[in-house]
Amino acid sequence: MQFIPSIHTINHLVKAVLGTIEWLFGNPNPTGELVVINYHGTPLKFSSNFEKQLQFFQKEFTLIAPSDINSFYNNTITKSSKPFLLLTFDDGVLNNLYAIDVLNKYNLKAYFFVVPDFINTKVELQKEYFITHIRPTIHSVIDNKDEDFKAIGWSELKKLANNGHQIGSHTKTHTLVNTDSVEKVQLEIIESKIIIEQEIQLETVNSFCSINDSSLSINKTSMDLVKKNYDYFFSTYPGSNLNDKNKLLIYRCNIESYWLLGAVKYAIGKWDQKRWAAKIHSFKKLVE
Ligand SMILES: [Zn+2]
Repeated sequence: MQFIPSIHTINHLVKAVLGTIEWLFGNPNPTGELVVINYHGTPLKFSSNFEKQLQFFQKEFTLIAPSDINSFYNNTITKSSKPFLLLTFDDGVLNNLYAIDVLNKYNLKAYFFVVPDFINTKVELQKEYFITHIRPTIHSVIDNKDEDFKAIGWSELKKLANNGHQIGSHTKTHTLVNTDSVEKVQLEIIESKIIIEQEIQLETVNSFCSINDSSLSINKTSMDLVKKNYDYFFSTYPGSNLNDKNKLLIYRCNIESYWLLGAVKYAIGKWDQKRWAAKIHSFKKLVE
């Protein structure tokens, strides 16, 4: 993908240049590292760019499925000469089905973190729900088709789960769970899990992912509840899942399907992680 001024900012271009430079010396992630990627919506017009990103991941990493995460954390994963990489998608946007078509082509499996109330909203009201609760600022050059604002339905999610993908909770309503109101926190963390398990007829939903910046969206009350009800907590911080191996603080690098490859490299390189150090330091107190 080339630089497109209506889509990419100058800041994005600078990151792309920095990422390209950082990777001139090879993959900065060591063997044994697990890099977790966090996508959101994946509009159809960026499918071929998304595929190029996957091809890059395949060249530089050993891609693992959600079912492998347990063996990574138990140290029983089959060794590889390359770092590991796991794909996750937040919000359960309908246009993820295009990304899934590409994943199928390469036989790759991913995590999908969904929002039960978004899925249960009437289809004709989902766009309004999306703009109100999920992404208030829409970039109309990027997201402008119906499916860019609607949710993947339960029956489709059930098929995905039966096909090796994993469905996790991304709160019930896509809200910050930083309140001390136990009732509200239970609704977002426990009820979301129960709804997904019932709708998809899953034995258990073992993964939770907070919305936006984890520092804002999770506090002690909610983290304690996550610990009791889930095995894995996926954060919004980029970082090393090898040096800091903790199932309740999984670092993820945010990438979008329209990004330039250099910016992808920057996001999964080491240079970008430095600016998160202070936030991660204070967040760690919640998971210790
Ligand atoms: Zn989200």
